[in-house]
Amino acid sequence: MSVKCQADTMEENLELLRVPSGKHIDLRRDYDPGCVGHFMTKREAEKATAASVRLLAEQQEKLYAQNTYALLIVLQALDAAGKDSTIKNVMSGVNPQGVQVTSFKVPSAEELDHDYLWRSCVALPRRGNIGIFNRSYYEEVLVVRVHPAFLERQQLPPVLNDRDIWGRRYKEINNFERYLADNGIIVLKFFLNVSKEEQKRRFLQRVEEPDKNWKFSAADIRERAHWEEYMDAYEEMLNNTSTPSAPWYVIPADHKWFTRFAVVSAIHQTLDRLHLAYPKATREQKEELLTAKAEMEHEGGDTGGTKKRAKRKSKKRS
Ligand code: AMP
Ligand code: MG
Repeated sequence: MSVKCQADTMEENLELLRVPSGKHIDLRRDYDPGCVGHFMTKREAEKATAASVRLLAEQQEKLYAQNTYALLIVLQALDAAGKDSTIKNVMSGVNPQGVQVTSFKVPSAEELDHDYLWRSCVALPRRGNIGIFNRSYYEEVLVVRVHPAFLERQQLPPVLNDRDIWGRRYKEINNFERYLADNGIIVLKFFLNVSKEEQKRRFLQRVEEPDKNWKFSAADIRERAHWEEYMDAYEEMLNNTSTPSAPWYVIPADHKWFTRFAVVSAIHQTLDRLHLAYPKATREQKEELLTAKAEMEHEGGDTGGTKKRAKRKSKKRS
């Protein structure tokens, strides 16, 4: 396999960037973080992204009105890959009422007192809504795997804390996502694939530009030292959890304009397949609407009458 975004359209590129279910991928060899394809310039892509953001807003209105499906977008990446700015950009046009973003951090004491999917279940989007997980239950096979100390804190029965735990978690996650799909919750997963060099460039920017200092912490550098372990953990996760009902996309993330265009296009494409439409009123509902309209028109005449009576009263008093 080779570089994964050389097709002529974004649609075809998304096919290539989607991790095939049941086939083995090599993350480092198959997916180039710097890939931007050759089918569009940066300016063209930015224009197309803006158009797709507008279309997404229309789709979301229909999703909300229909109140049948929900969309869960899972975003995973190493630090500085652009998760936050992708959310900000891609969701910039949609009605905030229909979107919830949940950022998953190191679990709290309360969260650790539950099974590992608990906090995600609580945050699932309701029908008609788009839920975005900024990090997710996938951290349970990523950071928790790279740093076994996190697993120790999970208070698991010792017999369950064994070598097979990661294989079991992949299965549990696949079953969970199957369950969501069977309930009309569409799951779409993006791994923003940034290169180690680009991460360094962005970290340096965060150090050098005062307004970006808040984004940087010394812990980020410590995580960077585990780069290869993270790549291995990501690769195994992608190979085990990309399914037809909940596919992973490996999105090149060294160029933000390409990342955004790819993500918004994939969301747009997924919603398009749902054939969303505003609910049509039934005959009875139409009759009710007409009755309501007639009542309001009648009410309009009444208000006039009330005004006239009030005028007559005030004249008498003067
Ligand atoms: P950030 O997304 O940069 O605000 O950082 C959140 C941090 O929380 C990251 O370092 C994640 O790896 C960490 N985190 C998220 N979920 C978990 C989890 N289940 N267990 C341990 N750490 C987690
Ligand atoms: Mg961070």
